[in-house]
Amino acid sequence: MPNKFLIVVMQVAFMVSLAAAEEPAAKLDPQRSFGYLEDICKLGPRPSASVGMTKQQELLDTHFTKLGAQVSLQEFDTPHPLKGTPVRMKNLIVSWHPQAKERVLLCCHYDTRPFPDRDKSNPQGIFVGANDGGSGVALFMEMGHSLPAIQPTFGVDMVFFDGEEFLFQRDGGKYFLGSEYFAQQYRDRPPPHRYVCGVLVDMIGDKNLKIRREPNSLKYAPKVNRSVFETARRLGIKEFVPLPMKQEINDDHISLNEVARIPTIDLIDFDYPAWHTTKDLPSECSGDSLAKVGRVLLEWLQHVPEDVGR
Ligand SMILES: [Zn+2]
Repeated sequence: MPNKFLIVVMQVAFMVSLAAAEEPAAKLDPQRSFGYLEDICKLGPRPSASVGMTKQQELLDTHFTKLGAQVSLQEFDTPHPLKGTPVRMKNLIVSWHPQAKERVLLCCHYDTRPFPDRDKSNPQGIFVGANDGGSGVALFMEMGHSLPAIQPTFGVDMVFFDGEEFLFQRDGGKYFLGSEYFAQQYRDRPPPHRYVCGVLVDMIGDKNLKIRREPNSLKYAPKVNRSVFETARRLGIKEFVPLPMKQEINDDHISLNEVARIPTIDLIDFDYPAWHTTKDLPSECSGDSLAKVGRVLLEWLQHVPEDVGR
């Protein structure tokens, strides 16, 4: 009898250790991810310096502090594109394993476009940017549950860029204010740490998600691109399609590559019919898409090749 008991104990211990080994991936919960996306959209439109943006900053500060990360803001002023008066911009930085001097940058924009100007029937309507603005935030909120539990190759900073599209007209104007400022500061006032590489996510919540290789990412950060897509292939995540996109994308990764010299890729699904319309709602997105991108990134963070940035 004692022997049988011992076997049961050993079996239970083995099952517990298996569960522990699988924990980080298992913790990516599609439903919870989608819940975060809904919470963010319920705040309403979140353009730079708006009430919705302030509420979002509070929500993120509370969320990530509770999970054990360090949260800080990088602030600067920019002239309002119509009025010329100064507008306060705030990049929000969430640091995991802050003691690590070599770090990986995960980033997204968290402002929403002031108006859905591609909406044919209502170009001045309400724009909540579920996929365009919300999806990256929801993904990082979900990943925040797993980050304390994993052993990433490098320290990890999640950076939420402000002013990605503080634009009031359909054509013209300046995009990417937050990432440009972040990259200039990194170049001109180098911090004590170094970013080995970066991954930008943008519009990764589409319920029909297909992420292809983005040409600027292939040009600036081929090793980062290869290792991320290789991770997706290994995990069998078919939403990552290892073919190049037809068009190159100008996004927050450009100044990170050109100004900060951090090899950074853009994971983006630009084929999204609700783009810049009032229809960019949680109903066009899926928690499964968010969780799949999260699984790839969490796995990749634990196996980033040492020479990825060289
Ligand atoms: Zn946009």
